[in-house]
Amino acid sequence: MLNDAREVPDGTLLETDVCIIGGGAAGISMAREWAGSSLDVTLLESGGLASDPRTQALYRGRVFGRSYFRLDEARTRHFGGSTNCWHGMCRPLDPLDFEERAWVPGSGWPFGLAELRPHYERAQRVCGLAAFEYGAERWTLEGEPPIAFTDDAIESRVFQIAPRRFASLYGQALERARNVNVQLNANLIELEADADARRVERAQVATLAGGRFAVRARHFVLATGGIENARLLLASRGVRSAGLGNDFDLVGRHFMEHPHLVAGAWLPSSASIPIGFYRPRRAGEIHVAGLLTPSARVQREERILSFASFFSRAAELPDFEGRLTRFIAEMDGAPDPASRAVFFMNEVEQAPNPWSRVRLTEERDALGVPRVQLEWRLSPIDKRTLWQGQRLLARSLGRAGLGRLQVLLEEDEHSWPANLGGGRHHMGTTRMHVDPRHGVVDANCRVHGVANLHVAGSSVFPTSGSANPTLTLIALALRLADHLKRELR
Ligand SMILES: Cc1cc2nc3c(=O)[nH]c(=O)nc-3n(C[C@H](O)[C@H](O)[C@H](O)COP(=O)(O)OP(=O)(O)OC[C@H]3O[C@@H](n4cnc5c(N)ncnc54)[C@H](O)[C@@H]3O)c2cc1C
Repeated sequence: MLNDAREVPDGTLLETDVCIIGGGAAGISMAREWAGSSLDVTLLESGGLASDPRTQALYRGRVFGRSYFRLDEARTRHFGGSTNCWHGMCRPLDPLDFEERAWVPGSGWPFGLAELRPHYERAQRVCGLAAFEYGAERWTLEGEPPIAFTDDAIESRVFQIAPRRFASLYGQALERARNVNVQLNANLIELEADADARRVERAQVATLAGGRFAVRARHFVLATGGIENARLLLASRGVRSAGLGNDFDLVGRHFMEHPHLVAGAWLPSSASIPIGFYRPRRAGEIHVAGLLTPSARVQREERILSFASFFSRAAELPDFEGRLTRFIAEMDGAPDPASRAVFFMNEVEQAPNPWSRVRLTEERDALGVPRVQLEWRLSPIDKRTLWQGQRLLARSLGRAGLGRLQVLLEEDEHSWPANLGGGRHHMGTTRMHVDPRHGVVDANCRVHGVANLHVAGSSVFPTSGSANPTLTLIALALRLADHLKRELR
């Protein structure tokens, strides 16, 4: 059922088995899991079926330090969440991303890819993607093979691309499900815990029309996105002044993005080198596009993080013409006159950094919830990964006789060029770890110390890999749904 929270009488207490807060990629994927079952599910969604400026303004916040998108433009606050505007580029994490890496402080998931793999396969279907296959061989077209490197430093993989809007895709099924009560225009303003903060008793809800009501549930799942999950835990300070699940001052810390920037220009040695594998192209119901990524061996040897390089429009590079002219002038030996420079956009893994963080400010939104400040901080290893990665790519292209790559970056560990951007991927602020001193949630995404509170979304990622986060967060949300089904049995 789709209901309007503005019609719920003030002071009502709704009772349910599972209360999911947030109707975006994670929340909708989970609610579907119970549609038509014997359990009662309430999904609280801040927005309505379409965008509304007053609701969107609840996402406003401050950006401190490194420049970033405006926080109310980096995500979408209505039914479907940021799937209303996402690009649908999907890829799973690699096996190494789950491992503890000695050169990456804070790395290591409580489980490996094998644990997540069946859930990834289900997540593929939720996203409307093809089979769980990301290797280059599966997607090679005749006449458009991946680059034939002669070493094993750089590997070719693909993105599967399907920008499906979850509200259109699944809204009707949720509307038909009599046991799923989707409350639109319902904003969680606080989770109220019992006296020793061991259980959530109620979710306090407010509407922009002035209504107030509460939800009592056996289990609560916070699924409001990678910044908001931290904000709502920090703002739930009725019994713990630092917020719920924050006994070790970890909520909001370790905010990770995927630094995005064009950092290299490749001039192929011949215009006949095929590059179509790396351009977005249709493959049945979806699109695919190739990417280049460092092998596990090279990440270990060079002590770098992961990154993905994929084709970029030249326009994204400042002073494109000037750089290209200088580059060609510097070439030793004339290139094939028909050859055209190819630019790579790099999506880089960011190492967990406790000083990269989301915290509350004194300012409040229209519902009285403190607004956030985002301080995005990068570490020396992030920068080193980028320039070392470009050098490795240049070396591999050179060794294979495929041309030259000019690295368009300063080789230091701190400076970042002006074209640095993010992917609007918000990760790490409620990180997962088996030990409450190192993580906010446990391996089942349950908030440490709070028996009936779980978190869904990329805020639980302990590390980010270089893959776009949504496929992984949906796989984790489906795994969490399975866990709650067992708990509720
Ligand atoms: C422009 C853009 C392009 C992107 N492209 C890609 C891509 O190509 N690939 C990829 O993997 N990812 C991409 N992303 C990121 C992707 O959209 C997110 O990873 C994903 O949507 C996160 O899912 P979520 O359910 O955690 O949060 P969201 O989808 O953001 O959903 C959160 C939901 O919670 C609701 N909510 C918020 N606060 C409250 C509250 N207090 N009470 C009740 N409800 C609340 C919101 O209205 C929203 O519906 C992109 C994002 C943007 C903005």
